[in-house]
Amino acid sequence: MAPTAPITSLIQPHLLQLSPYQAGKPLEELARELGLTDAIKLASNENPLGPSPKAVAAIQAELAHLHRYPDSHVYYLREELSRHLGVKPEQLIFGNGSDEILDLLVRAVVPPGGEVVSTAHSFLMYGLLTQAVGGVFRAVPLKDLAVDLEAVAAAITPRTRLVLLNNPNNPTGTAFSRKDWEAFLATLPPTVTVALDEAYIEFAADPEVAQGLPYLAEDRPLVGLRTFSKAYGLAGLRVGYAYGPSALMECLNRLRLPFNVNRLAQAGARAALGDTEFLARTRELVWEGREFLTRELTRLGVTVVPSQANFLLVAVGRPGRQVYEAMLRQGVIIRAMDAYGFPEHIRVNVGLPEENQRFLAAFRTVMGL
Ligand SMILES: *Cc1c(COP(=O)(O)O)cnc(C)c1O
Repeated sequence: MAPTAPITSLIQPHLLQLSPYQAGKPLEELARELGLTDAIKLASNENPLGPSPKAVAAIQAELAHLHRYPDSHVYYLREELSRHLGVKPEQLIFGNGSDEILDLLVRAVVPPGGEVVSTAHSFLMYGLLTQAVGGVFRAVPLKDLAVDLEAVAAAITPRTRLVLLNNPNNPTGTAFSRKDWEAFLATLPPTVTVALDEAYIEFAADPEVAQGLPYLAEDRPLVGLRTFSKAYGLAGLRVGYAYGPSALMECLNRLRLPFNVNRLAQAGARAALGDTEFLARTRELVWEGREFLTRELTRLGVTVVPSQANFLLVAVGRPGRQVYEAMLRQGVIIRAMDAYGFPEHIRVNVGLPEENQRFLAAFRTVMGL
């Protein structure tokens, strides 16, 4: 075959603009690059307690069965989660992380040229997934660093197919209230699907924070997405889920690849779901650490956005990327926020008490405070 065209000319044009998702720097990478072996990572909102010990034991027991394909229907986790949430088993779908389900949802409801309305300064995956299907991404500005549901509603047009919201919102940590959420839902045209990404909902201490679950209905195009990656301590296992009307979940189920949630993930997630003590300990740790870091950082004179999540967005008054780089050399991995549209902010997640102390010490050194 004679070469005729550059490979990139064979690729759909809208895909050539895609930029890869920038993940937090892994500890292993920092060790390779700077030789730092005692570094700490507070960059990806992971659980500082590690995985639930019950999940680890369940995964170990499952190892002997790795020659078998997993249950593609995720029967047991589905049954247990349906009881836990009070939803029908067919109102659930599972994914290789909730990211996978977001991808399925966007593919299911957004045609080329269809609009996705979301907010500025939110999870970067929303824009990337929209671009991947040739959709048009509309990012509604925040108001005082919080999601402005009235402005989101006003941005909906006849071409809007999906509204993607994150509550509490990554990376601001802010959350909208049940009252605002109900008012928003009441204005929605019936042709628009709403996805509420609740990756951090377990960390919301305020009972007024809006959730999707009470509004689940077979005739309402509302999907809530949750994950075992954060509060349940299983980010490396890759398992998330969504609840929604069964007709929509059934469509996503047909769209997904078979065996998308592996055996270890199913076993680990089941055990983690049952480990209520671990979840309670995680929340206590996060709430205490969040308060501690907010207080101490405020005392240093930097502005901290009040957070309902397990991380803080911090205004540093200088390029956040410089602070990030300097913190790396101190062996503390945090996140620069320029890619999220905050060039002078950093994001740090709550760690163990000694990790929080170490972050503060490094931060003072780097900032000269
Ligand atoms: C971490 C995170 C997720 C969860 O991703 P998984 O694929 O389940 O690990 C989803 N949404 C947001 C906003 C997140 O920050």
